[in-house]
Amino acid sequence: MPSICHYYVTLRCNDTCEFCPHWTVLENQYARAGEELGTKELGAREMEGKLKEIRAKGVKTLNITGGEPLLRDDLPELLKLAKALGFCVELTTNGILYGEKGRLLNGLTDRLFFSLDYPVAAEHDRSRGVECFHAVMAALELAKTAGEQPLLACTLHRDNIRFLPELAELAEKRQVKVQLNPVNDFNGTQGFEPATVEAVKYYARRKHVLVNHALLEFVRQGGNRVYWPRCRAAETTVTLLPDGTTVAPCFDNRSGRSGRADICSSCMRGPYMLPSFAIGLDKYFWLNLWSEWLTRRKTR
Ligand code: SF4
Repeated sequence: MPSICHYYVTLRCNDTCEFCPHWTVLENQYARAGEELGTKELGAREMEGKLKEIRAKGVKTLNITGGEPLLRDDLPELLKLAKALGFCVELTTNGILYGEKGRLLNGLTDRLFFSLDYPVAAEHDRSRGVECFHAVMAALELAKTAGEQPLLACTLHRDNIRFLPELAELAEKRQVKVQLNPVNDFNGTQGFEPATVEAVKYYARRKHVLVNHALLEFVRQGGNRVYWPRCRAAETTVTLLPDGTTVAPCFDNRSGRSGRADICSSCMRGPYMLPSFAIGLDKYFWLNLWSEWLTRRKTR
C-alpha cells in the first residue's frame, strides 16, 4: 500500500538552481516533443476526485512539490482540500513568495520546509540564480510569528558540504531544524567520499540538524543497483502531475519498473528511497526506523 503521494503541483519555477533539472531540461524537452506530460495545471476543484481516490488507497502523506508550489494561485484551496481529506500535508518552498502569500497558507501544512542551499547570502543566491537568501530568512521569521514550526531543507552536494558548520550554527541561531537531503545526480554533484559521510554524521549529532542515516548509508554505498534494486517506488509512492495524471514508479522513470531502468542506476532520489526503506528487513529498514525516531525526538 502506498504511504506517500508526491504531488508536483506545478513545474514552473522562479529559481534556476544549479543542481535542479526541472527548469533546464523538463519543460524544454517536453515542449520540444510537443507533449504536455503533466506541465498543464489542473485547478483545485478538478483535482478533488483525484485526491479522494489517492486518499482512498491509504496514502497518508501528501508532499506538495514542484517547481515552486507558491506560483500556483489556487494553492490555499488545494491545501484546504487536502486537509479536509485527512492528509498530513508537507510543503517545500523556496520562500520567495512567502512574504506575499504565506498568510493564506497558515495552518494548512503539517510540515513547512524552506529550501536553503548555503548559509551565506552570496553563495545561496548564486546557487539559486536569483537573490533570495534574505527572502528565505524573512519567510522563516514570518512563519514562526504566524505560529508555524518551519524547517529548513538543505540539498546537500559536493560544494555546499564545506558550509556544514555555518549551516548548523545558522539553524541554532534561528532556532529551527535543518533537514539535510543528499542530492541526486544532476551536473555531477551526487555521492560523497567516506570521510565526507562521516562529517555529515558528525554534524547530524547537533540538536538542530536532521539527517536520515539510511539514506546517507545508501549514498555511501553508491545508490540503487539495477541488478538488485532497493527502490520500491511503485509499491510505496504515488506521483501526481500538475494535470492530475499519475506516473509510475516515479517522476523521472515512467516505465512502470521500480529500480530497474537505466536511469535507476546509482539513483539516490530521497523522496522515493525513504518510503522504499520501510519495506524489506535490511540495514536500510532499521537505519530508517532509527532516524525517524531521532527526528521525532529532535522536533517534538
Ligand atoms: S529513477 Fe525512480 S524508479 Fe528508478 S531507482 Fe530512482 S526512484 Fe526508483
